[in-house]
Amino acid sequence: MKISRMDLADTGSPMGLVTKILSVERDLPIPVPIEELARQLDIERIAPLETEGFEGGLVTDDVRSTGFILVNRAAPSGRRRFTIGHELGHFLIVSHQPVEAGKFLCSRADMAKWSTEQGDRYARMEAEANEFSGLILIPPPALKKFIPKGDPTLAHVPLVAKHFDVSKEAAARAYARYHPEQLAIVVIKDGIVRRAHKGPMFPWITVPYGKPVPRASSFYGKDLRQRVASELSSIIAEHWVELKHGQRAELFEQIYPQQDGFALLMLWLEVEEPEEVDDDRTSSQRFRDQQARWR
Ligand SMILES: [Zn+2]
Repeated sequence: MKISRMDLADTGSPMGLVTKILSVERDLPIPVPIEELARQLDIERIAPLETEGFEGGLVTDDVRSTGFILVNRAAPSGRRRFTIGHELGHFLIVSHQPVEAGKFLCSRADMAKWSTEQGDRYARMEAEANEFSGLILIPPPALKKFIPKGDPTLAHVPLVAKHFDVSKEAAARAYARYHPEQLAIVVIKDGIVRRAHKGPMFPWITVPYGKPVPRASSFYGKDLRQRVASELSSIIAEHWVELKHGQRAELFEQIYPQQDGFALLMLWLEVEEPEEVDDDRTSSQRFRDQQARWR
């Protein structure tokens, strides 16, 4: 690797940093060697974290001359790699300042903060570190090449997770964001909506976090099997989303039950394009009709 922190000096956003790293490291292997990359970017050591209840930590000084990353070694590989990416994000985004000077400590709940629009500075910092980690471990150009052509399906998510060596949720988030169709993937625990990862075009999801999955959902179907993506089924779009006035759309659901009461639910929205109105009027007729409306 030839990237150095000098290359990143003018960049402070997760996307900016990742774009720069990828432009220097054009042949970055997949799965991304995150520990090697961290060392290349002045992380001196990656050591086990012993503090109960935390996933990761970063010890550094005010000027970030060097850093130590601490990681919960008991976590599965995908999550551990995500944590290292997250701590590397805190290290590289110089505006991030820990609550306790020189030491970041990050919990699992921190790793689940995704909204960079949250007002709270601390939550925004965690969301940016997650954003960085997600982008560097699943570089969008590599993901776009990997997503098979055709209809989206949650059956792809474990393949993405395996290919990039990341958790299924990180894979699901990237899949929903970069798939060419309009997708959202909802994370469910014990029937409760925890959070959702959406593509850029997907509308607002009206089911609040912390509330049960809508009763009409195929989530309550009897024939679901663990770690098998269900058949796609259609649901009235308004159970999940608010459409624009006059917009018509079909919404499909698919469920992927996981362990311990977790499940992923994919929403695939197909918006119907408005039909062209037959209009044989001449332009002068149209003008007269328009004038008539104003009288
Ligand atoms: Zn953090």
